[in-house]
Amino acid sequence: MSNIFADIIDRKIPADIVYEDELCLAFKDVNPQAPVHILLVPKKEIVSIATVEPEDKEVLGHLLVKAREIAEQAGVTEGGYRLVINTNADSGQSVFHLHIHILGGKRMGWPPWAN
Ligand code: 5GP
Repeated sequence: MSNIFADIIDRKIPADIVYEDELCLAFKDVNPQAPVHILLVPKKEIVSIATVEPEDKEVLGHLLVKAREIAEQAGVTEGGYRLVINTNADSGQSVFHLHIHILGGKRMGWPPWAN
C-alpha cells in the first residue's frame, strides 16, 4: 500500500530526516505545530495503532525508546514534550502509516483538542 510516509522512507520524496535505523525513520513535520515537531515512523507499513498486532511489539517498543533519544537530541527533554499518536478519523489521523508526533519547545494545553 502506498502512502506519503512510505515514499519518504523510500526517498521518493524529500524530508528533513533527523534519525534513521533499520526499524524506523524520524523527520521534521512539514507543517510544524510547535518549535519541535518531529514524526517518528516504523519502516514496516503499519496503518495505525488500531491495526497493530502482537508481532509488532518489538518495533513499537523500539519507537518509544527512540522517541526518548530524539527528544533529547532536539533539546526538549528538560522543558518537556508530548508524544501523540492520532488514530482514525475522530483523532484527525490524515496519513495512514503509523507515526508518533514528538512535540516540544512550547507550553501545551490540556486537553489537547482545539475548540
Ligand atoms: P496525522 O494528522 O495523520 O496525525 O499527522 C500527519 C502529519 O504529517 C501532519 O502533521 C502533517 O503536517 C504531516 N505531513 C503530511 N505530509 C507530509 C510530508 O509530505 N512531509 C512531512 N515532513 N510531513 C508531512
